[in-house]
Amino acid sequence: MKYCLVSLGCQMNTSDAERVSSVLEAMGFEHTDSEEDATILGLVACSVRQRAIDRAYAKIRKWNSWKDTRDLLTFATGCVLPGDRERFLKAFDFFFPINELPNLPEMISGYGVVSQAGLRLRDDEVIPPESKNDKRKGFWQIEPAYATDFEAFVPIQNGCDKFCSFCAVPYTRGREVSRPSGEILREVEGLIASGYKSITLLGQNVNSYGHDKRQSEIGFAGLLRRIGDIGKSADSGLRVYFTSPHPRDMTREVIEVISEYDCLAKQIHLPLQSGDDGVLKRMNRSYTLEKYRRIVEDIRTIIPDATLFTDIIVGFPGETDDEFDKTRQAMAEFEYNMAYIALYSPRPGAKSAEWKDDIPHEVKKERLHELSELLKGISRSYNEKLIGRTLPVLVSGTDRKPGYLSGKSEGLLVVRFPSENKSLIGTIADVEISSASDLSIEGKLAGG
Ligand code: SF4
Repeated sequence: MKYCLVSLGCQMNTSDAERVSSVLEAMGFEHTDSEEDATILGLVACSVRQRAIDRAYAKIRKWNSWKDTRDLLTFATGCVLPGDRERFLKAFDFFFPINELPNLPEMISGYGVVSQAGLRLRDDEVIPPESKNDKRKGFWQIEPAYATDFEAFVPIQNGCDKFCSFCAVPYTRGREVSRPSGEILREVEGLIASGYKSITLLGQNVNSYGHDKRQSEIGFAGLLRRIGDIGKSADSGLRVYFTSPHPRDMTREVIEVISEYDCLAKQIHLPLQSGDDGVLKRMNRSYTLEKYRRIVEDIRTIIPDATLFTDIIVGFPGETDDEFDKTRQAMAEFEYNMAYIALYSPRPGAKSAEWKDDIPHEVKKERLHELSELLKGISRSYNEKLIGRTLPVLVSGTDRKPGYLSGKSEGLLVVRFPSENKSLIGTIADVEISSASDLSIEGKLAGG
């Protein structure tokens, strides 16, 4: 019997979906990418963005329409607001909070679907009943079915205590909970021993790691140091990333630890959201531009080769031309390699959804366009300086450009090069950079 799983939203949902897959496969179900071929259809949903919610309802409408002609079991889980939970309970055969994943076999067998129920755990253990009650603990103990054999996402923390006014995550995922460091280190060790080249530590606020445990757990810098020590024994080329940190908790120690270990990737994603202190305050971001500037200065001084990525929202309620201009100036000052720029839209459940969305759509689009053009110019001039250098590239697949493969540099820059040799996928190849464009670089295999 086959299952198909659709994941919407961010990398955290992608990572959660790997654990859902693992449970379904341990039950004996076979994965398919084709919804048409599957008997069990699951959705890892996201309430954080309206578009993702619209897609979730479109999916279930389609799946339910198939029920007239064949037997199907549908379920939903994920990062879901209480209001959507109610509606999902009616639309899908069943809904469960992701924390209750260890109970999925019972839920499926409750529908009369026969399987070899049993969960695959590390060390072939069975989830003890007490861990099933400690919900996140049971969830994290499930070994995920990683999507590739060279790139893995490892959750280290879940939930958020920050309550940014534009964001619904604290209401969908709840408060911050740190995963025990022993479990994280064991998962990372296993991945390194299996030859993984890229490991991304995931969480809504990775750098508040350990804060919820007070003195009983190491902090984020300590965790990175332990991972750096494990990574020292790996073949060269291992890269460990993390996303997303919050500027409020970004310490100089974290930046120093990254500089000390080769395996800790020299790439930092530091969400700015706005360059104006008034807007930052309305967003409840709890830092000022000056505090953010000091972090960037530390990064530039301590890890001069690091690439810098960010997130920005334009058209937040009440954002004046002047306030937007501060964001434009900040972007020029910090010289980002990449920025994920979003047009503000109210997210159901978030505080700002109660405020008037008063910036006209056309103005938001103009602001986004202005920042995108600025970003392209900054990124191109950085990329042009790479021409003539040879960069190790983790090859991830075929490129849209026919006859080309593509992958990422350590700094997560997109690199493409002519080759049809698919055996390079999942390996690190040296690429001589010969040309640069706005948001990518091109070259040829060194010695090729
Ligand atoms: S820090 Fe802010 S943006 Fe990030 S998950 Fe928490 S509330 Fe959302």
